[in-house]
Amino acid sequence: MDVQIIMTIVFCVVCIIAVVAIFSMSGTRGMSKMMKRAIRMEKNILSENEKELKDIYSRSANIEKEAIEIKAKAVKDGFTKKVEEDNKYCKYCGALIDDDSLFCKQCGKEQ
Ligand SMILES: [Zn+2]
Repeated sequence: MDVQIIMTIVFCVVCIIAVVAIFSMSGTRGMSKMMKRAIRMEKNILSENEKELKDIYSRSANIEKEAIEIKAKAVKDGFTKKVEEDNKYCKYCGALIDDDSLFCKQCGKEQ
């Protein structure tokens, strides 16, 4: 479902670009008509899938936020802690853990 929506939007954007490219070579009257149709089509897609789109973007923003937090923590740890040869960072929360530990002592996830 999510992938379908993204593919549809990508398809529409490609369509609009194609329409603009075609009509930039063949006059402005037909172009404005086609542009209006393409814009209307995209508006419909956006309004019909508004909820799903908001959900996708909010989830993607959360993933990005977590990634930034992990990176920021890793940078902070790099400045404040001495990272020894036998240590590594948790793949999930970025905590500094023993290199040979199978689970993270902070989040408990398997490494
Ligand atoms: Zn962890």
